[in-house]
Amino acid sequence: MRISVLGLGYVGCVSAACLAGLGHEVIGVDVNQVKVDLVNDGRAPVVEERIGELIAEVVRTGALRATGDVREAVMGSEVSLVCVGTPSEPNGSLCTTYLERVAEQIGAAVAGRGGRHTVVFRSTMLPGTCLNLLVPILEKHAGGTAGTDFGVAVNPEFLREGTSVRDFFDPPKTVIGELDPASGDVVAALYEGLPGEVFRVPVPTAEAIKYADNAFHGLKIGFANELGAVCQALGVDSHQVMDVFLADRKLNISPAYLRPGFAFGGSCLPKDLRSLVHAAQRADVSVPILSHVLPSNSDHLQRAVELVERTGKRRVGLFGLSFKPGTDDLRESPLVELAERLFGKGYELRIYDPNVNLSRLLGANREYIETRLPHLAQLLAQSVGEVLDHAEVCVVGTRDPAVLSALPHGDDPVIVDLVHLPDADARRAEPGYAGLAW
Ligand code: NAD
Repeated sequence: MRISVLGLGYVGCVSAACLAGLGHEVIGVDVNQVKVDLVNDGRAPVVEERIGELIAEVVRTGALRATGDVREAVMGSEVSLVCVGTPSEPNGSLCTTYLERVAEQIGAAVAGRGGRHTVVFRSTMLPGTCLNLLVPILEKHAGGTAGTDFGVAVNPEFLREGTSVRDFFDPPKTVIGELDPASGDVVAALYEGLPGEVFRVPVPTAEAIKYADNAFHGLKIGFANELGAVCQALGVDSHQVMDVFLADRKLNISPAYLRPGFAFGGSCLPKDLRSLVHAAQRADVSVPILSHVLPSNSDHLQRAVELVERTGKRRVGLFGLSFKPGTDDLRESPLVELAERLFGKGYELRIYDPNVNLSRLLGANREYIETRLPHLAQLLAQSVGEVLDHAEVCVVGTRDPAVLSALPHGDDPVIVDLVHLPDADARRAEPGYAGLAW
């Protein structure tokens, strides 16, 4: 199939490369020329396992190319996959500006195109957004009726940054919200041959399923971290508690997101919880559990600040800055928040994150770092050794092998462990070790 992928960010570039890898002919579109140029050069605009090799390969074979022109892409394809961002508005509501703009552009291109085109929304959006907001925009600009003159479907994305290529080829599930069966058939054909169950549901149900996933992930992490903090205060090993809790086969609970560790972050969980709670409040639905997941997460982050304060040291080395290992994504990273709180308290900070260094070099994240985080950019070190030379206390927020193998034992520097290091049990006996949840 000939496919346009609108938005070459974390979701779009992985979807574009993987669909090209499945044998489709893909044109990626982005308003950011740096990303378009990187893809056409056969290089990935994001740091992710396997994405660099895959993009190099599919660009070399001609299965993937990129452009800045939505019209050109839509005219040359049967399907558009919309992967533009849906960040939080300042009041917590979902920002639909990019979706609206892209719906106008696709609608206008569909108007000038013969044959049926199907518009598939992969971006996360609240139930009702597609049918009440985007379909009217598409119909207005296309001059036709959705479900008859062109297809519309919602196909939420369940990839996890850090393992997104693997997740694409082995998805936990495929959810197709179809306006009409023909639209659903087009989406099903995109992923033909991939494993996992396919669920064909009404459009608003598909939109809501993504929120069920992300709200539950946030809730699980908050639960594990609160339990970890209480156990620690009471002198109990929370990891042993969770090992036994999760071993109960009758409960059949997935261990994912249930290991006490550091706060969650990223571009999805916080903003999706925020917009879900905002939507509930607007609908006059009381959601005390969901409303307290983010405050719980923020309290947990503060516990890490207090651990550093308790060491009484001033020169801090921070390992890890992106929101989790395996990605360069800094959006709403809890380690960025931690660095800012420490920086604001006057700690002398040096930070090492190999993925952030790499993406700064590639250029894709350079603008984000230089415009949003200039105060931290100047603290970035080029090597583990540079940070170790500086630090009286090392805050470990990553399990990057290069960091783990270089971490000294003893009490100089003090180790503040946010990730439950593989040798945490042994380190617990050392005077210079403080764990966030152990
Ligand atoms: P992103 O910000 O990394 O990428 C969005 C891209 O869209 C940017 O490169 C931007 O330049 C581009 N864009 C904006 N307007 C455009 C237009 N008119 N035409 C072409 N390109 C345009 O965002 P992301 O992290 O890839 O997330 C995209 C969506 O997928 C969001 O709704 C998000 O909630 C959802 N999602 C993200 C993840 C994840 O792990 N990042 C997982 C599942 C779902």
